[in-house]
Amino acid sequence: MSNKFDLVVIGGGSGGLATARRAAGVYGARAAIVECGPIGGTCVNVGCVPKKVMWSAAAMAESIKQAPGYGFDVTSKPFNWPEFVAKRTAYIHRLNGIYFKNLENDKVTYFHGKGYVRKEDDLFLVDVRQEDGSVSTIKADRVVIATGSYPILPKTPGAELGITSNGFFELTEQPKTVLVVGAGYIGVELSGMLHALGSETHLMIRGDTVLRSFDEMIQTTITETYEKEGIKIHTEVTKPIALSQLDSGKTLASYVDKDGKASTLEVDKVIWAIGRAPHTRSIGLEEIGVKMDETGYIEVDKYQNTSVPNLYALGDVVKLVHLTPVAIAAGRRLVDRVFGGVKDRHLDYDNIPSAIFSHPEAGSVGLSEKAAIEKFGKDQVKVYKTKFNGMYYAVLEEKIPTAYKMVCVGPEEKVVGLHLVGDASAELIQGFGVAVKMGATKEDFDNTVAVHPTSAEEVVTLK
Ligand code: NAP
Repeated sequence: MSNKFDLVVIGGGSGGLATARRAAGVYGARAAIVECGPIGGTCVNVGCVPKKVMWSAAAMAESIKQAPGYGFDVTSKPFNWPEFVAKRTAYIHRLNGIYFKNLENDKVTYFHGKGYVRKEDDLFLVDVRQEDGSVSTIKADRVVIATGSYPILPKTPGAELGITSNGFFELTEQPKTVLVVGAGYIGVELSGMLHALGSETHLMIRGDTVLRSFDEMIQTTITETYEKEGIKIHTEVTKPIALSQLDSGKTLASYVDKDGKASTLEVDKVIWAIGRAPHTRSIGLEEIGVKMDETGYIEVDKYQNTSVPNLYALGDVVKLVHLTPVAIAAGRRLVDRVFGGVKDRHLDYDNIPSAIFSHPEAGSVGLSEKAAIEKFGKDQVKVYKTKFNGMYYAVLEEKIPTAYKMVCVGPEEKVVGLHLVGDASAELIQGFGVAVKMGATKEDFDNTVAVHPTSAEEVVTLK
């Protein structure tokens, strides 16, 4: 069998798999995938999937806590972390198997090893390198770089004593006390889950609120709710946090608090959640002249073309939107264009909905109020918002707020942003995202009859 392929994808995560499978399965291209880690990449193994499983466990813990309010006399033992993690791991292994089966069904050839790309005239050579140093080489007319990203550590003393989200998914025991550093998706999701499952949880952030890249309503509602629920948020920790190991086995975090006072915190685990960096070094890209920025993000045009003809990049290696479905959508469109002849097919990166699996959840699509004002001017922007307690909480003492904000532009009040906090927001934003993507106006929302009694009905009755 020839070792020459129409397409070689380097990186077997969600984006790479979708790309190779569509090329081979739909268009009959000879496609191969090269992956050095577990099949499925970050999302399946140390990201979205095990995270959502843990989030569901955390949601269950909250329901058990709330059960007496609904008349159930419930007592429960503490969360059995080791047993649950074993179940979660078994599920991921099942998924790994399904992913291999899918490759087989679509006739994608799989190579295990680290891909390194070279050029020979118009052809690409992809070395597949093994840990023992052995190398095999395959040839390709086209190559897609979908190698993803990895969580970063800060350059502070003792940083390596902390773990990242990867390490979180390796924990076989629940930390009794934990410090999470970082105000983005991962910091917020992990701290919310750990708290709900019973760990004493500290969250250190550089600003006053979490999720600073989201609408201000999401930032303040989540920050206030987390504080009220008992997560200890240390704000304005702007100086580096140093870690050291204590004889007790615990980790000591030394930091400067918001009043400028040198302080320490002793915890079982420190989790860094301060962002990710692209996996683009040592895979041959510099050598063949692929343009990248100083961080290593690959420069692409709207068609995912890099500076090297017939070499494409998608997912976390490009500086756009780092979400699994974005990588998948970009890959499928690229293949439709390159192998399916669908002219001009490319991913539109505007109005991509996303959700934060916090407690409560948040969902967002389009522009924040601030971004809309910056883009269109204050006099063009009209905002509708509401904050209330969902009916679920009517009989409960604990009230988890629901807050919605709609950002509209121009005299026709086109909806350019929708931001939701509250139960089921992740599910809701998927549907409402369709309306925003189609260019719906406030009137279109108003013309849609409410579904009663729901929280979502407030989105179509905003005043
Ligand atoms: P992120 O969203 O980029 O957030 C990291 C945050 O950490 C920054 O926004 C920053 O917030 C803070 N930070 C940066 N450097 C820091 C430092 N030296 N010390 C303290 N704080 C620092 O990154 P992430 O949460 O690690 O997530 C990585 C990617 O995974 C994201 O791009 C996201 O798209 C994806 N993801 C998505 C989901 C989802 O869809 N639900 C879930 C998880 C991850 P401040 O500026 O406020 O300090």
